[in-house]
Formats: sequence, C-alpha cells, structure tokens
Amino acid sequence: MHRHSGSGFSLCDNIHCQAYKGRSKLNNLIINAVEETRGIVVVNSQNNLITTPYHSNCGGLTSSTSNVWQKDLSHLVVIKDPFCTNSKNTSWIKKIPVTDWENYLKKCGIDITGSKSADYKFVQPGRKKFYHIDNQKVLLTRIRDDWDLKSTFFSISIDGNTLIFKGRGFGHGVGLCQEGAIEMARVGYTYHDILHFYFRNVRVAHYKDISKR
Ligand SMILES: [Zn+2]
Ligand SMILES: [Zn+2]
Repeated sequence: MHRHSGSGFSLCDNIHCQAYKGRSKLNNLIINAVEETRGIVVVNSQNNLITTPYHSNCGGLTSSTSNVWQKDLSHLVVIKDPFCTNSKNTSWIKKIPVTDWENYLKKCGIDITGSKSADYKFVQPGRKKFYHIDNQKVLLTRIRDDWDLKSTFFSISIDGNTLIFKGRGFGHGVGLCQEGAIEMARVGYTYHDILHFYFRNVRVAHYKDISKR
C-alpha cells in the first residue's frame, strides 16, 4: 500500500505492484470477487498484515523464504503442493553445451581443473539453495538469473556434450502457487481454504477490526 500515494492511488497494475494490466475489465467475475472481498486482509498470529508472495507454479513443492531472500517468515513454510502438478508451468527443459557451462562456472570463481562432464550432474529431490561441485557452490538463484531459467528447482543430467536441465515450476516458489490455487478453486475449495493452505498460522480478518487496535 501507499506506493503511489503521490498519484492518488495505492497500487499500479504493472509488475511493480500487481500485474493485472487492466485485465480485470474483461471479466465481471474478477470485479465481483474484488468487491465481495473488499476490506478483507490476512494477518499473522500477532495480528500484523502478512507479506503474501506468490508465483506461477511451485513444481509440487514451495520454497522456504531463506532459499530465496535469506530471511524466514513464520507464515511461509515449505508446502507439498499436489494441485499444480498438471498445469501449464509444471515442468521445463533447457539444454546447455558442457563448454558453455564450464566457462560459466569459471566466471563464478569455481575451479574446474580435472573435472569431467559427469561431475556437473545435479539432483534436487527437494529444493536446495546451492549448486554443488565438489566442495564448491553457486547460489541457485544466481544460476536462475544468469541463465534466465524458469525456476531454481531443476536437476542436471549429461547427454554427450550437453547438459540437460529438467526443471519444475515457474517463479521463485515462495508462498502461494497460482496454478495450484486455480486448481484448488476449480475442484471446489474456497478462497479461505486456499489462503490457509499456502499461508500457515494466519487468519482472514476485516481490515477495520485490525486497524482499531
Ligand atoms: Zn506500482
Ligand atoms: Zn504449486
């Protein structure tokens, strides 16, 4: 809130605040949902408004905040998400030549003397914070940025001179998974159910009751 108070409104409709890009005008369901939930907020056990990050698809497992932003928030925990595993952004694949990967690792300050391509293999049954090669490591968020990957939730296998990145999900993976939430709504869960599934130890309340304190 208040990011645009100088202009007389609270949120813009770009990625900066809330990427609606005017789409709400196309759909009365959206307008009605906004009106029906006017003034409703989500608070933590101390009655403070929570940060509610979201992403496109978690790949079946959300990420802890400390994997992405170094800081843990009690309402953002790792959640196994069975609802997004059949969606548009459930998985992705990217191929990178071994030599490109080696040049990149060197750029990251990794010593690859004597390494074979098999050493670049990497598995993530759960979400990790670092890519490991021997005792050296690179932050997965850095790799995601540098290679423009859809997520940090990937494993690497080797096929000749090529690394095959098999990834899950799209986005940082923290908080609410949009494609999972869409599926929950489709099979009949309410927005309360959805909020309590992705944000833990929280309460849905009216803003006027919170601000009275
Ligand atoms: Zn904005
Ligand atoms: Zn998900």
